[in-house]
Amino acid sequence: MDLTRFPRRRYTGYATPIEKLERFSAVLGGPDIYMKRDDLLGLADGGNKTRKLEFLLADALTKGADTVITCGAVQSNHCRLTAAAAAKEGLKCQLVLEERVPNSYDKDAGGNNLLFHLLGVEQIHVVDGGSDMGAEINKVAAGLKAQGRRPYVIPGGGSNEIGSLGYVACAQEMLQQLFEMGLPLDYIIVTSGSAGTHAGILTGISGQNARIAVIGIGINRPKGPQRETVFGLCCRLARKLGLKTPPTKEEVIVLDDYIGAGYSRPTEEMVAAVKLLARTEAILLDPVYTGKAMAGLIDLIQKGYFDSSQNILFLHTGGSTALHAYTGLFLDK
Ligand SMILES: *Cc1c(COP(=O)(O)O)cnc(C)c1O
Repeated sequence: MDLTRFPRRRYTGYATPIEKLERFSAVLGGPDIYMKRDDLLGLADGGNKTRKLEFLLADALTKGADTVITCGAVQSNHCRLTAAAAAKEGLKCQLVLEERVPNSYDKDAGGNNLLFHLLGVEQIHVVDGGSDMGAEINKVAAGLKAQGRRPYVIPGGGSNEIGSLGYVACAQEMLQQLFEMGLPLDYIIVTSGSAGTHAGILTGISGQNARIAVIGIGINRPKGPQRETVFGLCCRLARKLGLKTPPTKEEVIVLDDYIGAGYSRPTEEMVAAVKLLARTEAILLDPVYTGKAMAGLIDLIQKGYFDSSQNILFLHTGGSTALHAYTGLFLDK
């Protein structure tokens, strides 16, 4: 696959490391677990959105934009990294935040909310949970256009076929690293939210004819609709890349057993997973995405889903900034 045809900015000057989680794997007593450290990507507290924004901001600059607008939840990592990328490019940034949990917006909150301010977001618009977020961001864009500005709209999570190219690039980077390490992988475990990461990795792996199963662990939607979303994005991405065949529907694996009461609602297993990784590897997960995905991986290992001779890679998509907005969950009583 040739990604050089797509304009790209660079926000990370190195390939993120793949580390073997020795102590964590030993405690679980199952297969060897490796981690791709995409929590070490560039921008402010980098994470998976950094890779998507490399392609999205390049597109915005190509189109002559002066402002980027995006949306997310009140502690959105995507909104924080969009604000960071905009700052780095000298563009203005406006955010539309959805109060998915009633009254969850706290203008004085720490975590990502603090960083929205620190990174110089021009305006924050808060809307009720269940709002049509696409319509809300378009409304903000229309207002700016009426003032003669040139807004560029980035969808939630940066998950369109432009942003998802970042994870096709990650699949390429990863296969090269695995080759150099002499490490044949059996599974990749990834959080599946707005789906750009899952779809990008799967399309990139499948487009390079690698036989590695990709398991997406859902954090908001039931697996039926989530699989449709991932598959639809894989097809659009494959078309953009000019691939002869997109991944098949059967290759889109989504588990929805670890969501708990809903998006961003904590589960006991999430808290245990975050603590276990911190205490065995000194690596910080996050409460909304990777903590639940890791709770899923731990459960699968405990249920004997994997053979102990297999190699599993967990893609760490970042997000630990949000821990600072959920401190009560993690303080030992
Ligand atoms: C956005 C996000 C995800 C989910 O990625 P999608 O591409 O939206 O599916 C996972 N982990 C973290 C930390 C995120 O911020």
